[in-house]
Amino acid sequence: MNNIFAIPAFNDNYIWCLHDDKHAMVVDPGDATPVKSVLDEQQLTLTYILITHHHYDHTGGIEALKAAYPDAIVYGPKNPSIVGIDHGLSEGDKLSLQAPNVELQIMETPGHTMDHIVYFNEDILFCGDTLFSAGCGRMFEGTPEVFHKSLQKLARLPERTKVYCTHEYTLANLAFATHVDPNNQALNEYHSWAKEKRSHSQITLPSTIAEQNKINPFLRSDAPEIKQNIEKIMNLSTQSDVEVFAALRSCKDNF
Ligand SMILES: [Zn+2]
Repeated sequence: MNNIFAIPAFNDNYIWCLHDDKHAMVVDPGDATPVKSVLDEQQLTLTYILITHHHYDHTGGIEALKAAYPDAIVYGPKNPSIVGIDHGLSEGDKLSLQAPNVELQIMETPGHTMDHIVYFNEDILFCGDTLFSAGCGRMFEGTPEVFHKSLQKLARLPERTKVYCTHEYTLANLAFATHVDPNNQALNEYHSWAKEKRSHSQITLPSTIAEQNKINPFLRSDAPEIKQNIEKIMNLSTQSDVEVFAALRSCKDNF
C-alpha cells in the first residue's frame, strides 16, 4: 500500500514522496538534502525521480540524488537542458513503476514553461507549477491560449483526483481569488479553512479537482461573474474565455 507525503524544501516548495515499505519515488527534488535526510530517517531507498519542468527549484537535487542512489531512474520532459533525465516523456506516455508500484500517465501542460508535463492517474495528479490551489503558475514561456488549454485539460480529470502542487502558495492565491470572485461561497469557506491550517503552519495540500473547479478562478474563466468582475477591475472587455484567463493572469501578476 503506497503512502504520499510532502518533504518541505526552500521557502515554500513541496517535494512529494510516494513510497511503499521500502522504496520511494520523489517528484521535483529541487534540493537533495531534505530528501536524503527524510529517506534515511524512514529507511527508504530512492528508486524513481519524476521531473515536471526545467526550473532549478524542481531539478537542482537530481545530480546529488543520483550519486546517492545510483539505481534511481529519472523521468522528465524531453528537454535536453535538464541534466540527468534518463527517459524523456511526452503526451500519452504511460509509466508502470514497480517499486513503489504505481501506474501514471503523462500529459503535456505548456504555459508556465513550454516543457511542462504532469503525471496522473485516476487518484493522483502531480502538477508541478501548472496548477496551484486557487491559482496557477506564472506564464513564463507560454501564451494565454496554450496555458488556458492545459488548465482545461486538468479541470476535466476525475473529480476525486487529488492535486499535489509543488508550492504552498494557497493563501496568496486565495487573496487574489476572493478579489475576483468575492461572492463564491465555496471559495470563502475554503479560504477560512486554509487560514486556519496556515495559522498552525499546516500544509493545505493535496486539494482535489472537484475543489479546484469550484474555487480556482483560473479554471473558472467561463463563469459569467468572473468575466464581469475582471472586466471591471482591469477596465477592459473580453470576447472569450481565453481573454478572461489572460486578464486574470495579468491582474494576478501585479496583485
Ligand atoms: Zn517553475
